[in-house]
Amino acid sequence: MEETKDAVSLVVVGSLALDTIATPAATREDVLGGSVSYACASASFFTRTGMVGIAGADFPDAGLEQFRKFGIDLQGLHQVPGKTFRWSGVYEQNMNNRRTLCTELNVFADFSPDLPEAYRRSPFLFLANIAPALQLRVLGQIHKPRFVAADTMDLWIKTARDSLMQLIAKVDLLLINDAEARHLTGKEHLVQAARQVLEWGPRYVIVKKGEHGSMLFSKSGAILVPAYPVEDVQDPTGAGDSFAGGFMGCLANAGKITEAAVRRAMAVGTVVASFAVEAFGLDRLATVTRADIDARDAEFLKMIRI
Ligand code: AMP
Repeated sequence: MEETKDAVSLVVVGSLALDTIATPAATREDVLGGSVSYACASASFFTRTGMVGIAGADFPDAGLEQFRKFGIDLQGLHQVPGKTFRWSGVYEQNMNNRRTLCTELNVFADFSPDLPEAYRRSPFLFLANIAPALQLRVLGQIHKPRFVAADTMDLWIKTARDSLMQLIAKVDLLLINDAEARHLTGKEHLVQAARQVLEWGPRYVIVKKGEHGSMLFSKSGAILVPAYPVEDVQDPTGAGDSFAGGFMGCLANAGKITEAAVRRAMAVGTVVASFAVEAFGLDRLATVTRADIDARDAEFLKMIRI
């Protein structure tokens, strides 16, 4: 798709989806989603972000328009004949647990990303949730990235463990939720699970714990960041992707990757995710400004100071 003038400093690959979601608040069909949508929208507040993904012929023009409004570079987004990837899920009353009802791969089944030339020198890369073989393919096309983060999910731990392990050895940061960390490592205790992942290669591991926040582990120790207390969660879908997008956008914008910059990015990712869950899909992020994010960030930093 179309070019924008500025070079991208962050490339994100992941799923582009039309989701059907039932939460205790409401049920909505054909919601603009997928890991790449949430992550790119969230990162776009901080840095020029390029999207790598695949959409079917049924993908709505309004969705593309939405991406343009965020300022996302769409050179790496391909629209092909066929149907867009679809996912549907239902949340329990407390919204911490969700069940996948249906996943239709559609155009995703033959997705084999080839990055535009302009993306191949991007310093930052986020491999959002997608098959690890595709994450490895994209990683192989970026020339000497400065910082690479990857997300994953249970499905790949079960069905694509070998390629996932190859990927983990090559990234700087693995983002994973608590249940997945236990499943991946076979260690019940989260600190031990994170230590095990660090031994496999990454410099950092972030363990996401839903409404209980997240933990960052590195060789020099661990930090805990609570979730921002959102009063009215409408739809938790994409919270992890929004956290990761905000985190990577903030880090790309910081320039130097220091322990302090990584800590800062944890707080910013948390704040961006807190906006994302206030409405379905990208609806809330679409109404948020950078000033809103900065204001909540300042409030959040006060809240967590002891
Ligand atoms: P999250 O709530 O952060 O886990 O992300 C939810 C998003 O992941 C939804 O928008 C889905 O479309 C997308 N998703 C669900 N299943 C998969 C899958 N197997 N591969 C890639 N993306 C998926």
